[in-house]
Amino acid sequence: MFDSLQERLSGILDALTRRGALTEADVAAALREVRRALLEADVALDVVRDFVEKVRERAIGADVVKSVTPGQMVVKIVHDVLVETLGADAQTIDLNAPPPVAIMMVGLQGSGKTTTTAKIAKRLSEKQKRKVLMASLDTRRPAAQEQLKVLGEQIGVDSLPIVAGQTPVQIAQRAMQAARLGGYDVVMLDTAGRQFVDEALMVEMAEIETAASPHEVLLVADALTGQDAVNLARAFDERLALTGIVLTRLDGDGRGGAALSMRAVTGKPIKLAGVGEKMDALEDFHPERIAGRILGMGDIVSLVEKAAETIDAEKAKAIADKMRKGAFDLDDLAEQLKQMQKIGGMQGVLGMMPGIGKMKKQLEGANLDDRVIKRQAAIISSMTRHERRKPDILKASRKKRIAAGSGTRVEDVNRLLKMHRQMADMMKAMGKGKGGLAKLFGM
Ligand code: GDP
Repeated sequence: MFDSLQERLSGILDALTRRGALTEADVAAALREVRRALLEADVALDVVRDFVEKVRERAIGADVVKSVTPGQMVVKIVHDVLVETLGADAQTIDLNAPPPVAIMMVGLQGSGKTTTTAKIAKRLSEKQKRKVLMASLDTRRPAAQEQLKVLGEQIGVDSLPIVAGQTPVQIAQRAMQAARLGGYDVVMLDTAGRQFVDEALMVEMAEIETAASPHEVLLVADALTGQDAVNLARAFDERLALTGIVLTRLDGDGRGGAALSMRAVTGKPIKLAGVGEKMDALEDFHPERIAGRILGMGDIVSLVEKAAETIDAEKAKAIADKMRKGAFDLDDLAEQLKQMQKIGGMQGVLGMMPGIGKMKKQLEGANLDDRVIKRQAAIISSMTRHERRKPDILKASRKKRIAAGSGTRVEDVNRLLKMHRQMADMMKAMGKGKGGLAKLFGM
């Protein structure tokens, strides 16, 4: 997601920051390009208009052209407006109600509703130690109730026993009753979807809402469907008291328009993002981090957090501290390569690395798949400890020895060193100053 938008925006903004002085005409021209890039990313027209207008107003107000670092000021303004458009603060599922707290999941067929229901149930039970009951209210698709049951067994979360012949409302009532009797904290209600929004679906959803009084009504929407997802949210919001949105398939190569328009058009927060088919491929939606990702500044916080979940927390913290101090050496890179393999999903990890937008071409050239990672790990392990700490001492003869030792070529060693240098530089830039970003913007 966001790849081509990221490329476009960072291109436009890079060009601005490279110039020493800016005229108002330069800013206006850049904003025209920003506008085009957003429209091409399938962002809703109204949202694009608002976005560009806000940036323009602030750029004029801040006297950008007279400032010392005009380009960076524009980047900063674009970043801030992007964060606001995405929804300022991260919001997550609210369980603040007397138990059992009902969470109703709604959406179209195939949007990822059932998968997301189980992902949320897993997260609430494992991380937040809640006792969760899942119930499928989908009586239309024969295998739907069975599907949720199987997922429940897989993640170790209870699901409501299936009773044939009940209506969705009856199942909802039975689920609430069973939860009360069984001392459950949370009930996840997975409703039926349709291929399109129709009246029958809306009536059914409204009835379930009345019967279960859910504390959260979450719309599951497929980010790959772009503007359709936004229109869908509007339609559901007219009939139900939606409390939030879960965008699925954020791992796909969509253009990102849905993610960018959703909040502004519906006023509802995007609470969570689905980033894969696996049961733990669910992330909180942090507007600040997504904005950083879109502008090609990477998402070091997510990367470190994800690593911390997979690896032991202390190790991850030590690496994060080193990154911040700019003391990221080849041992750390080796550790990171190992983590990448553990975390899996090269694509996901790459998207979160700072500056990756600019490095992407080069990385693609280097064909950075798991085989390559193994080779890179081999190169590093052929170095002496001293060399890993101080890569600067690696001259031709040492490189030759390392290449021979790891069964690679000197070019491979050089490529690895270059990658390390770039990562270290960027991490240093990200880590310094207030929130890291402030420094990048020279503010
Ligand atoms: P439902 O009809 O809305 O209940 O949809 P399902 O939960 O059955 O999901 C449909 C398909 O989408 C399944 O193959 C899921 O594994 C897949 N899926 C769900 N969420 C995601 C996601 O965030 N990313 C990816 N790549 N696939 C997903």
